[in-house]
Amino acid sequence: MNIYQEAAKQIIDSHYCVAFTGAGISVESGIPPFRGRNGLWNKYDPKSFDIDYFIQDSARAWAIIRDIFYDLFGQVLPNTAHYALAEMEQRGLLKSIITQNIDNLHKDAGNTEVYEFHGSLKQIICLNCGQKVNVSQVDMNHLPPMCLACGGLMKPDVVFFGEAIPEYAASKSVDASQKADCMILIGTTGTVAPANTLPSRAKAGGTTIIEINPNPSEYTNRITDIFIQDNATKAMEHLMEAIDELA
Ligand SMILES: [Zn+2]
Repeated sequence: MNIYQEAAKQIIDSHYCVAFTGAGISVESGIPPFRGRNGLWNKYDPKSFDIDYFIQDSARAWAIIRDIFYDLFGQVLPNTAHYALAEMEQRGLLKSIITQNIDNLHKDAGNTEVYEFHGSLKQIICLNCGQKVNVSQVDMNHLPPMCLACGGLMKPDVVFFGEAIPEYAASKSVDASQKADCMILIGTTGTVAPANTLPSRAKAGGTTIIEINPNPSEYTNRITDIFIQDNATKAMEHLMEAIDELA
């Protein structure tokens, strides 16, 4: 058996398979990573995404947020790796996705059980009353957006530096990690806490870890059982072929 057939067999034989995704799956859709040499944090000051700075100087922070999140990320589409995960869910081979990405591409591709550990750009939230509004209703020429219900300051419904992980996503993600007997890590190197503790937690409970990354990561030698060294799109295409052969 080659590595793809081994991974396919684990997935087909599993009872609860979950995917755990990071920036690497969206890079091929045109979304730059935040970290690393060509990452956004080399171009933009991350302080706009610090909750205290945001509250203090929200108009300036929002102008940068608009540039990065809505002008740059706004036009992107899911790629074949996202669509492969949607097909796996439809076929009953994948129960849920835990994602660290805020780009909404898993939902755009058709996945329905998606736990957005760091929130989603598709919505903005009032810091005062918690009201959420779809971002399509925001006039980006009048920033910062204010809440129509209470007049409070609104921010993207994503986790800023200094903020806690949203309770719903956190509890669903921990739950899925504990239930999983198979976890597919895709495009995530394990450097961002506390999200990076989820695969280790799963592994401690006996979960088989399949890892897809172009280079070895923090996980590879520590917890990975099957390491597929490739880009997300190419790896997922080969994996789907192997699943088709075995299923
Ligand atoms: Zn409000």
